[in-house]
Amino acid sequence: MSIYLDHAATTPIREVALRELVDKARMLNPGGQYASGRAARRVLDDAREKVAFLLGADPAEVIFTASGTESDNIAVQGLYFASENNRVVSTPVEHSAVKDTVSQLPGAQIDLMPVDSTGHINDVSAVETPAALACCMWANNETGAVQPIAQIAQKAADSGTPVHIDAVQVVGKFPIDFHELGITTLAASAHKFGGPRGVGILLARRSPAPKAIIHGGGQERALRPGTVNVAGAAALAAALEESLAEHEVENARQARLRDELRDDIVHQIPDVVVHTQEPALPSHLHLSFPGAAGDSLIMLLDAAGVEASTGSACSQGVNRASHVLEAMGVATDTARGALRLTLGRTTTENDIRTVSEILPRIVEQARHAGLS
Ligand code: PLP
Repeated sequence: MSIYLDHAATTPIREVALRELVDKARMLNPGGQYASGRAARRVLDDAREKVAFLLGADPAEVIFTASGTESDNIAVQGLYFASENNRVVSTPVEHSAVKDTVSQLPGAQIDLMPVDSTGHINDVSAVETPAALACCMWANNETGAVQPIAQIAQKAADSGTPVHIDAVQVVGKFPIDFHELGITTLAASAHKFGGPRGVGILLARRSPAPKAIIHGGGQERALRPGTVNVAGAAALAAALEESLAEHEVENARQARLRDELRDDIVHQIPDVVVHTQEPALPSHLHLSFPGAAGDSLIMLLDAAGVEASTGSACSQGVNRASHVLEAMGVATDTARGALRLTLGRTTTENDIRTVSEILPRIVEQARHAGLS
């Protein structure tokens, strides 16, 4: 028996995406000026048009990249280096793909929009002053908190500040209209919505455009040069189409299962802290069990056939509190007992029932072992 509850980390590839990946794997270089090159180019163009249509962008605004991390880097560094301004607005809860990129911008004056105890940004006034860019995640990968993107985009437009949105946890889960949002760049990643790992999207308006930070053959508007992964792009487009087609039914189903799981846990286990608060992604349930170490919970769950995460990317091997929970004002000992359960399209009622049955014993064992 294996129950996978780490869909926010990555979700199994969809059959439609796998078929495209295999079907198009023999495609040659879409830059080639001969028949096989043109054939590859057609597949790439189709994928680009489909993604553009599904996300409310122009095909020329769709840049295929190698990951969400790469998309974030190209946008954040590129917009910064394209600007004369050295001010950067961000948040304390960004994924490290944005957080660490922002912190390494040379000479940047960084202003963080604060979050409240529910993990939501509660003061967007920093975007009222012009900056090289404002970057904010649409939804947090740990808690699932959905941020006030429209409000940020509106205020940034008024101050003439370009906006980068890390939508890696959102694309495929909700309809997105890039033009209507009025933002400058947006990052997404195929493996979060049932596409292959190692394929990303950057949506980038023509103006203001990020300055190129990777140099090479000029592919993908010279923003992401390198021979394009045609099969990956085709698989990404197929996954995105299917994911968006089923999003309403899936979101309702996952929210119901997630709420059931949360209620069961809160009723059965003493002293639970629920970090996931609305508005939030329907897939996420982030909790803390004070007195237990997150890593112990993960190991005990794994031994019982349940795959989950502490939610914190930097926790590998080191039981450290996450910067997201820290920004929310969660006490360190509570943050160290964090467990992130994230549902996806393969999650069943039975999975949820089994986890609610075994979790009380696991938390008790982890608490017995303590925090060391
Ligand atoms: N941004 C967010 C919010 C994420 O959750 C992730 C992945 O977990 C990334 C960026 C990085 O995406 P990728 O794994 O494709 O590099």
